[in-house]
Amino acid sequence: MTFADLPKVELHLHHEAAAPPQFIRALAAEKQIDISGIFDDDGNYVYRDFDHFLKVYDTACLPLQTPRDFYRLTLAALEEVASDGVIYCETFVSPDFCGQGDVSAWKEYLAAMQEASVEAEERFAITHKTIVTCLRHLGPDKAKVTALCAAETVGDYLVGFGMAGAELMGRPGDFAYAFDMAREAGLHLTCHAGEWGGPDMVADTIKDLKVARIGHGINAAKDPELVRQIADQGIVLEVCPGSNVVLKAVDGWDSHPIKHLRDAGVKVTVSTDDPPFFHTTMTNEFEMLHKTFGWDLADFKALNTNAIEAAFCDEATRAAIKKRLEDA
Ligand SMILES: [Zn+2]
Repeated sequence: MTFADLPKVELHLHHEAAAPPQFIRALAAEKQIDISGIFDDDGNYVYRDFDHFLKVYDTACLPLQTPRDFYRLTLAALEEVASDGVIYCETFVSPDFCGQGDVSAWKEYLAAMQEASVEAEERFAITHKTIVTCLRHLGPDKAKVTALCAAETVGDYLVGFGMAGAELMGRPGDFAYAFDMAREAGLHLTCHAGEWGGPDMVADTIKDLKVARIGHGINAAKDPELVRQIADQGIVLEVCPGSNVVLKAVDGWDSHPIKHLRDAGVKVTVSTDDPPFFHTTMTNEFEMLHKTFGWDLADFKALNTNAIEAAFCDEATRAAIKKRLEDA
């Protein structure tokens, strides 16, 4: 078995970024929206740094306007992800891009995504769940509106709530109301932290938002006491090494803390974050980890097991995916 054939579980994937750039370009052309400035001559996304990346991401989302667009996006994204061997994924979806936080509009968008997801499961043998994410740089009030959208649509398909965006804006506690609302509605919680912020940001996110998983969390490695706490509490890190390397959150693959964290007993998982933006796939992530740290198929099977055990899905889905991983 090769890394490409290995069935994979991916937990940290931004929905709009999961489809190939060709899909976004074709949709923009169809709607006569000029987004040519965000691509290089080869048709790949191009940006200068993390802040510019967030702007380019917003521009790439401009052609995504109607529930039907999100149906097509979801199908294109899941076909792409499944072609890399992913059999279960969770994606971050933002009501800010889907009806600007209006609950009834959001329901239509989510229904369209779910329709595509059901179709993708039949056609590409991939199971897909969603996590509503608020965008940190839009502030706590917007986060509450987003949490309300999530609370109104919690179910088998919408299983989690989280926060993405510019990590250094405000403190985690500013968003506690939104996370409390989501938790009370029965949603599982994750939050980006420790990608740009230090160990204190990770510690406050755990304390104030009471999350089960942390998006990235790599800077926790700078505080041995915090690493012990994360390992002891069984908090899972959604690590996206290729994303960290490309955005220069770390100096390079050699200095990526994923091995240190795993060796310290932290439950780490591997994801691609925004694959076409970082020119990566799950297979590429595994190949680079193999090259850098010598991890082999047994290691990646263990990471997939970590991931499905930390997935926000129902127990029947978890058991079914676990069986597919074990049978491989
Ligand atoms: Zn992310």
